[in-house]
Amino acid sequence: MEIKITKTATPKEKPQGPLGFGRNFTDHMFTMSYTEGIGWHDAEIIPYGKLEFSPACAVFHYGQETFEGMKAYKGADGACYLFRPEMNARRINASNERMSIPQFPEEDFLHALKTLVKLDLDWIPDGADSSLYIRPFFIAADEVLGLSISKTYRFMIIMTPSASFFGGLQSVGIWIEDEYVRAVRGGTGRAKTGGNYSASMAAQARAQKEGYAQVMWLDGVERKYIEEVGAMNIFFKIDGKMITPALNGSILQGVTRDSIITLCKDFGIPVEERPISVDELMQAADANLLQEAFGAGTAVVISPVGKLRYQGKEVTIGNGEAGETSNKLYKALSAIQRGEAPDKFNWRVQL
Ligand SMILES: *Cc1c(COP(=O)(O)O)cnc(C)c1O
Repeated sequence: MEIKITKTATPKEKPQGPLGFGRNFTDHMFTMSYTEGIGWHDAEIIPYGKLEFSPACAVFHYGQETFEGMKAYKGADGACYLFRPEMNARRINASNERMSIPQFPEEDFLHALKTLVKLDLDWIPDGADSSLYIRPFFIAADEVLGLSISKTYRFMIIMTPSASFFGGLQSVGIWIEDEYVRAVRGGTGRAKTGGNYSASMAAQARAQKEGYAQVMWLDGVERKYIEEVGAMNIFFKIDGKMITPALNGSILQGVTRDSIITLCKDFGIPVEERPISVDELMQAADANLLQEAFGAGTAVVISPVGKLRYQGKEVTIGNGEAGETSNKLYKALSAIQRGEAPDKFNWRVQL
């Protein structure tokens, strides 16, 4: 894949002050088109800017799209790293398969990513909590309202210097949702696609109104088993053991989830992947055995859960702050991502 590069003539000022999450964008973006019969063509890096699409563009109406979320880190040693990017390359193709979007060669995905990050390398922010968040995405681009599988697509990558999504290891309150569901078996829960998120907004709005930062989803059939939280997988520490819901087809396979399980095993912390019901969770809380809980995802790394609310009842976890194991795992994973610890599992890709 040859990438045509057009550099911006007017580089932007880097943002000053608090970065927030996903508000400022770097100088360049990657774009490539797909046309049935031709395949992927016209790989280009161009100045970041607005796009022109027809109002009839398929993605606006039927939501045929997929995305990824990953980060580039600047280490204390000044080197820049990606974290397990091959996992994202593989996962977006799994999402594309589910959403009937053409496959994209994984080596081209990695090449596009590295070329773009290298071009905007000075946009990777310094600071222990900051990184360059990278958003690759695919959209269906046909200009026709008739419901059909698009014959044209666009693949793009944009990048945003960001602070940690919730601002470090601050704990959040979680609303366990027992009315709406996010995903069902056979649905699109294991694909990273916008529709899963649009389906979640109503519950998210209600949770926020009640003073909770995120929604915890239960399974779509019995509303009994815990699935995940917002854009994160979930881990509990119950009676000394780490437990995370088993991948069941409607849960997203998080890169962070996989990394945490690996780290737990390496530390000798018992870890189980299995179905866990909300009743088991609330009983553990009642018995004072629910010691810690945290969400795990690229945007946050680890987001400690301080309190849970289920059917009108609120429980506080630990003392409401990040627990010992959450802290330990957060530090260990961040240190690997930022080049501050040996790369024992071969996870880093240095740019
Ligand atoms: C992206 C995402 C995650 C986290 O995946 P990571 O690869 O760890 O960033 C978890 N759940 C959902 C629904 C997601 O979209």
